[in-house]
Amino acid sequence: MINIAIDGPSGAGKSTVAKALAKELHYVYVDTGAMYRAIGVYVRGHGIDKNNADAVIAALPDIRVSLDYAEDGTQIVLLNGEDVSTVIRENEISLYASTVSKIPEVRARLLSLQREMAQTHNVIMDGRDIGTVVLPDAQLKVFMFASPEARADRRTKELLEKGQTVDYETILAEINARDEQDRTRSVSPAIPADDAVMLDNSGLDIDGTVGAIRDMLAERNLI
Ligand code: C5P
Repeated sequence: MINIAIDGPSGAGKSTVAKALAKELHYVYVDTGAMYRAIGVYVRGHGIDKNNADAVIAALPDIRVSLDYAEDGTQIVLLNGEDVSTVIRENEISLYASTVSKIPEVRARLLSLQREMAQTHNVIMDGRDIGTVVLPDAQLKVFMFASPEARADRRTKELLEKGQTVDYETILAEINARDEQDRTRSVSPAIPADDAVMLDNSGLDIDGTVGAIRDMLAERNLI
């Protein structure tokens, strides 16, 4: 199986780029952030304090996250069999996901599902620890990033397009807070693997970023 790992901070465009590449190459796209978000949805929905790790761990046996795919390849996230693909995108859920993802038991729970996907399919998997922890043997690892301002700008536009009320400064502050939380946690911090290719896409659009990764794949004779 061919495994491509795409890591990097939130808002760097990982999912858009990974989705486009997966479609082009006929690979399965696995958005691991969506899985952490689904756990965040459960925690919020059951009134569990996201900062209370023991309470979150105690709820884990009742949480089943699974992935399904629509005919066009779109990933569908199921929480205990219910499609939560829309609610996981709520802005508030981002912080829930980032907070619960610090808990080792939460990560361990999702790791087996992620590895299983990669063992049975050619995948493009995006997340924070794919190259370092989930798929250390991936044939290509990309660490994709952009300045916090470029990412806040993209995220603001994206949420506005979805009709959500947003404020650029708030989004920027949230991005910085989430970066800090993701980067400094003791378990699976969001840092590049030693053998990852660094890709700064602050000045690139989606096509430019997809093109850059396509070139990396071609260099490695993977396409
Ligand atoms: O990628 P996305 O922003 O949807 O991820 C939501 C949160 O889930 C991130 O802020 C991060 O804390 C966490 N996450 C993670 N490991 C991954 C993917 C996401 O810790 N592989």
